Amino acid sequence: MKVRYITHLSKLDGLTDEERRRLAPVADRYAFRLNDYYRDLINWDDPNDPLRRLVVPMEGELNDWGELDASKEAHYTPVRGCQHKYTDTALLLVNEVCGAYCRYCFRKRLFMNDNDDATLAYKPGLDYIAEHEEITNVLLTGGDPMIMSTRRLEPIISDVAAVPHVRIIRIGSKMAAFNPYRILDDPDLLRVIGEHCTDKTQIYIMNHFDHPRELTKAAREAIRRLRDAGAQTVNQCPIVRGVNDNPRTFASLFRELSFMGCPQYYVFQGRPTAGNEPFEVPIVEGLGIFLAANRHVSGLAKRARFAMSHRTGKIEILGVDERHLFLRYHRAHRKEDYGQMVVARRDDHAYWLDQLTVVSGPQSAIESAAHYVPYE
Ligand code: SF4
Repeated sequence: MKVRYITHLSKLDGLTDEERRRLAPVADRYAFRLNDYYRDLINWDDPNDPLRRLVVPMEGELNDWGELDASKEAHYTPVRGCQHKYTDTALLLVNEVCGAYCRYCFRKRLFMNDNDDATLAYKPGLDYIAEHEEITNVLLTGGDPMIMSTRRLEPIISDVAAVPHVRIIRIGSKMAAFNPYRILDDPDLLRVIGEHCTDKTQIYIMNHFDHPRELTKAAREAIRRLRDAGAQTVNQCPIVRGVNDNPRTFASLFRELSFMGCPQYYVFQGRPTAGNEPFEVPIVEGLGIFLAANRHVSGLAKRARFAMSHRTGKIEILGVDERHLFLRYHRAHRKEDYGQMVVARRDDHAYWLDQLTVVSGPQSAIESAAHYVPYE
C-alpha cells in the first residue's frame, strides 16, 4: 500500500484553519511529519485523541522548559554519529527522519536544521566499534533506520555484522506503528534481516508502540513477518501524558504485545527535553501507573522495567513509600554505580533525578540530584 507523507500542517485534513494558524509556530520550532496511514488511525472528532496528541503539535511545546539534549548524549559521542555510554553497547545514529515525528521525542534536536548528530556516513562509527572489542551490541537508531531504503540499510547491517565481536544488532524503529507497509511491502528488507540472524549475530527489532490502538491488523502482521524472518521483537516506550498515562491502556498494551511475541522491554520516564512539558508525568505518578498496569497482566507480559535514561545511567524506578522513592542503577556509565541503590525523599512533583533530594546513593546520583541530605 502506498503511504503518503504529510510534512506541512496546511496539508493536514482534520485541523481547522484556526488550528493550523495557531500551531504553525510550534511546527516551525519542532518539526512536524505525519503520513496518511497514521492520520487515519486518529479520531479527529476527539480533540484529546491519544494518537492525535502523539503527532499533532501543541502550543504547550513552546513553554520554556527542559533542554534539547537532556541525557547529554553529546558527552558520550566519541565520533560523529556513534554513542558509547555502556561498555558492551554502542549506538549508530544512521539517519534523521522517522515515519512521523512523535511530539515528545527526546531526540527532536536531530530534526532541526542546524543539527548534525546523526550521519549517513557511518564508517567512522563502524571503525570505532571495530576497534573496541568490548562492544557486543550495536543499536542502529536515529531517526528511524527502517525508513531508509533497504538498498541503503543493507550495507550498514552487513558491515556491523561483519565486526567479529558484534553479536547483537538492534534496530530501533517505530515503523511497525507509523507505517507497517514499509515492512509488509518489502520482502527484500525481510531477506536482509533473515540473512543476518545467524549463529554469530542476532537481530532485535526494538519496536515503539505507545498505545494499543497502534496495534492494527497491519502492524500485527508486520511484527509477525519480522519474527518469521528470524528477528527477535520487543517493545519500548515512554509514559506520555494524554497518550498512555493510565493503567488500563498500559495493561492492554502489555497484554497484546505479549500475545504478539513482542514483549515490553522498557517503559521510560519521559526525559526533561525542551518542548516536552505537556507530555511529562511525574516519577511517582508514572510508577503508580506502571505497577497498576502490571497487576492485571501475566508474568510474561510484565517483564518490562520502568527506568529513567539519565545521563549517568539507566536508573530503574523500583518503589515508593510515604517518605521515600527507591531507585537502582540498572545500567551505569561508571562501572562502580552498577546495581547501586538510590534513595530519595518522595516528591510527587519531580520528573527527574536532578529535581530530587537524595538521602543515599553513589556519587553519580548525589552529584546529579538537586540536594543531598544524608541520613542522620
Ligand atoms: S520514532 Fe523515535 S526518534 Fe522518531 S520521532 Fe518518535 S521517538 Fe523520536
